[in-house]
Parts: sequence; C-alpha cells; structure tokens
Amino acid sequence: DELLGRIERLDSDLGAYITVDAEGAKRSAREADKRIAAGERLPLLGIPIALKDLLCTRGVRTTCGSKILENFVPEYDATVVKILKDAGAVIIGKTNLDEFAMGSSTENSGFHITRNPWNRDCVPGGSSGGSAAAMAAGMCTAALGTDTGGSIRQPASHCGVVGLKPTYGRVSRFGLVSYASSLDQIGPITRDVTDAALLMNVICGHDPRDSTSADVDTPDFMSAIQSFDQDKSSSLKGMKAGIPKEFMSVKGLDPDVEAAFNNARKVLEDQGVEMIEISLPQTDYAVAAYYVIAPSEASSNLARFDGVRYGFRDRNASDLIDMYKKTKSRGFGAEVQRRIITGTYALSAGYYDAYYGRATRVRSMIREDFSKAFKECDIIISPVAPTPAFRIGENVDDPLTMYLTDIFTLSTNMAGLPGLSVPCGFSSEGLPIGFQIMADRFNEIPLLKAGYGLE
Ligand code: GLN
Repeated sequence: DELLGRIERLDSDLGAYITVDAEGAKRSAREADKRIAAGERLPLLGIPIALKDLLCTRGVRTTCGSKILENFVPEYDATVVKILKDAGAVIIGKTNLDEFAMGSSTENSGFHITRNPWNRDCVPGGSSGGSAAAMAAGMCTAALGTDTGGSIRQPASHCGVVGLKPTYGRVSRFGLVSYASSLDQIGPITRDVTDAALLMNVICGHDPRDSTSADVDTPDFMSAIQSFDQDKSSSLKGMKAGIPKEFMSVKGLDPDVEAAFNNARKVLEDQGVEMIEISLPQTDYAVAAYYVIAPSEASSNLARFDGVRYGFRDRNASDLIDMYKKTKSRGFGAEVQRRIITGTYALSAGYYDAYYGRATRVRSMIREDFSKAFKECDIIISPVAPTPAFRIGENVDDPLTMYLTDIFTLSTNMAGLPGLSVPCGFSSEGLPIGFQIMADRFNEIPLLKAGYGLE
C-alpha cells in the first residue's frame, strides 16, 4: 500500500509506469503476507517488482510502448514473469519504454515520456527508462529491463541504479516481445549489486520454450558475493581489468564522465585489481554495424503486427493492402517506422550483401576482438555512456547523434557478453554517472564482484 501511494504521488509527474496493477499487486501482497506468516521461505516472497512493458503478463495489458498494442492483454506469462511469481514476487506494474525498445531516452514511447528523477528536465535514458526511473524514485524494489544495445545499462547509469545485462542465452526470452532476436536479453535493474545477484539466481536457467536459451548451470551469484564480503580487502587481488584505448579516445566523452570513471578505476586498483590497456579495434564500426543488424531483425520481427492477428486495426481501410498500410502508419511511431524501412532496405535483394552481410562480418570481428582481449584480462571496464543524462528534447530530431550515444554498450550485445552498470559518481550538475564492467560469456561472477567492490 505504501508503495502504491508513492507511485500515485510521484508518477503523474515522472511517468515511469504505463500500467500499475494496483488490484493484482494488493492481492498477491496479501497472499505473500499469509505465506510469510505461515513460515514459508521463498527468495522474493512479497517483494514488489516492476516489469518493462515488453514482457508478457497474463491478464495485464502489455503494450511494448506502442499504440499498436495499446489494448493487448496476453493470455500467458513470459517465463521470467512466471519464475518471479513462483519465487513469491509481487508484480506491481508495467514500466514505460521506447516503443518496442527502440531508443536511448524513453522519448519514443507511444504514450508519454518518462522524466529522470534526479532532474526532471532530463531523460532517464532508454529504452528501459521506466524501469530505471521507477527504481531510482523508490517506486519498486527491483525491476526487469531488456538490453539489445545498452537498454538496461544506459538507463541504470543515467538514473544512479545498478543494471545488469546477462550473457546472451542466460535468461529465457519466452514471452519477451522480440526486437532484435540475436541481441535481446532480459536482466535486473536494482538498488545495488547484491540485489542484482539475488535476481540473477532466480531468473537465470535453461528454458526449453526458448531455443536460444543456453543449457548451462546457473552459479550461485549471491554466495559468490557473500564469500567476497567476508574478505573484502583482498578478494579482488589477482583480477586483471582491461581498458579499451579506443573507448577512452571517443569524441565527445564528457570530462565529468571521464573523471568519475578514473576515480572508480582507482578504487578498484586500491583493492588489488591490475589495470592493463587493451584494444578493441572495431569500435569505430560498432555503431554502424549495430544500426544495420538491429533494424534488419526488427523489420522481420515486427511484420507480425499487421492489424490481423494482434492489437490495433485501422477500420477505415478500403481493402487488405490499404488496411496494412493504414494500420502500420497509424499504429507505429516515427522511430519504429524508420527502423522498419532501414531494416527492410538492408535485407532486400541486391543490397543484402553490401549492408546486412557486411554488418555481420563486422560483428564477427567484434567478437574476435573481445576473445583476444579476454586472453589478457578477466574484465573490461569503461564508461557506460559518453555523457550524463541529456535534456528532454535535446536529441529527438537527430537520430544519428542519439545512435552514437550507444557506442560503449552495444559491442557487448554484438558479442553476446554480460555487462554491468554500477553508479560511480555525479556530474557537476548532480546527475548520476555509471561505470561499466564487461566479462566473457557466462562469466558474470567477476563482474559482480568488481561491481560490489565499487559500492
Ligand atoms: N538504443 C539502442 C537502440 O535504439 C538500444 C536499445 C535497446 O537496447 N533495446 O536500438
């Protein structure tokens, strides 16, 4: 009740939620109370969790931030949602996002913008901006986001909370509405690294209903951190961190971001982490390759929203083709239409090899860069975004500038690696700044330990 009251007080201004399921949350909270009183022990019993509105929830509308799905109510829960419920969590509501997760500021939502709780004139980042803002404003206890090219880590960074993108395949995506299937991953947005580890223990694991879900054991992330806690002074000793030289010389890197990064780097050094310089030579091409691959996959995934099977249909059409056209041009926002057009073009006969084919070759080279780097170090560290949160409206008319802000985050997705964002300081204007830690595939533990070392 307290949390719902807080949402009612704050959220008309912040706009972090699209749907608050007050009745459902109260019902499951009452049930959790009874189970707690009966002595039941479950990892998340009674914990209020917010979900990015791209995850299907049975009986609760799932909009993907799009007018085309404004009234779509799924008949099933995504696997992660079911797992959370089975662990006793109370699902409090569905958070705002850039339409179909396409964006870096949550300004592309089909419903409303979300404001950054630290400064209401600034964006919260995106696309999981609603989840990060809800977390930062204390309107949930933990949240889930999705990360295709930084959408968990960048909003976490801009809102001063922790965000973790797990290894590709670690978390089932059954019931997640697809954006770019070879890149999408679900992960936690939390107050601190310990909560992220706790959520990871719950949400990771093989799911036969997602053919890309990896059949690997889930380590006990929580106890990895707890054992570390007993011996905090020495347990990062021997860890090697690589700093990509191409990242640090990126044009437009804000001096406050650089200073906060360097301070945090020293904190890790003081705990025994050895720093080395590494090279990720494809960095310059990562944004271009990502913005071919992601829209290409999106153009294929979004073909299903045709006005026949799901959601909105324009009823003033004269025939079938006219109905497709009107439904898609009214139902999808400008950014989504831009991506569908770019993606369809990149995949079309005659252009496929020049665009999509070439982008996938860059992607393989990015993967190789990382495999080489991880022969020399255990983790790679960098800023999360080149600047702190920017002003609302500042980049809306300039998609290219917006895309370039993803430079530090999207290579991780291209290589399928895990990445963590932890708060590491503030800008001179008082906006939070995040620190990024990346690791090799299925190697989240050193990344969580180093993140914990920074807290
Ligand atoms: N900003 C990136 C994009 O617009 C990443 C989004 C995401 O990770 N979902 O595609």
